[in-house]
Amino acid sequence: MAVPKRKTSPSRRGMRRSHQALGPEAHADCPNCGELKRPHHVCSHCGHYDGREIAVAGRELKRAVRA
Ligand SMILES: [Zn+2]
Repeated sequence: MAVPKRKTSPSRRGMRRSHQALGPEAHADCPNCGELKRPHHVCSHCGHYDGREIAVAGRELKRAVRA
């Protein structure tokens, strides 16, 4: 099995991890209620998508679609 010749120094480890930072979550204003929502997702606040009410606000999406 290949084994590293030297212990990774804290500096090297930090340089490697400098690219691992998480970016900000994508978000957009809901055209219906103005709350922040994820792009291309039903608004979790008012249940609207593409100008129509898809899910009843506050209910689980699966249950609202089946009902
Ligand atoms: Zn909304």
